[in-house]
Amino acid sequence: MLDEKATTQALAVMATKFPKVGSSLVADSDFHFLLAVILSAQTTDAAVNRVTPALFAAYPQPENLMQAQPIEVEKYISTLGLYHNKARYLVACARDLVNNFASQVPRNHRDLQSLAGVGRKTADVVLAERFHIPALAVDTHVERVSKRLAMVATDASVLQTEKVLMTKIPQEEWIHAHHLFITWGRQVCTARNPACASCPLLAMCQEGKRRMNEVNA
Ligand code: SF4
Repeated sequence: MLDEKATTQALAVMATKFPKVGSSLVADSDFHFLLAVILSAQTTDAAVNRVTPALFAAYPQPENLMQAQPIEVEKYISTLGLYHNKARYLVACARDLVNNFASQVPRNHRDLQSLAGVGRKTADVVLAERFHIPALAVDTHVERVSKRLAMVATDASVLQTEKVLMTKIPQEEWIHAHHLFITWGRQVCTARNPACASCPLLAMCQEGKRRMNEVNA
């Protein structure tokens, strides 16, 4: 397993290759950013960004959205996967914001996760990106890359993965590390065809070496 020092070194290598990383979701308010993160489940940020301008214009505040019927909201997001459920979540989330939080997006895990459609990962992303509160959201890329690099045990749950990474990465680096993992997972260590042969982390990556041995066998 990579220890704290090696984990930090691996992230430094990622940062050298990708010096500019960050969220690509576009939103003009905390409320709209929360909606965008809910919509981003199992789809790309680019796809979300294509539908949100019209959605946000139609529903500028939670009070507007809570009065909508989900079928009306579906018209704006029908190009996204799971749009039936997402439309219901958006309306219910707006209602929760108005009824329980004076229409403001809360700034802690517990309250965020009390909102419809908001799980731990969504809460982490909102806290980190909108309020700069240290969090390390574990999505499919973070989980895959950290496990392939043996920063985390392969059988660790998502929550265990988050906890282990938080112990190995300095708190002030959590948000940046989240973005590095995602970019690395999209561009280098992809799910089906990781670029191990040209990967600058190959020397410290047992999974990469195993794959290279298979190729060369
Ligand atoms: Fe991923 Fe391969 Fe690089 Fe390891 S060597 S981090 S498996 S691309």
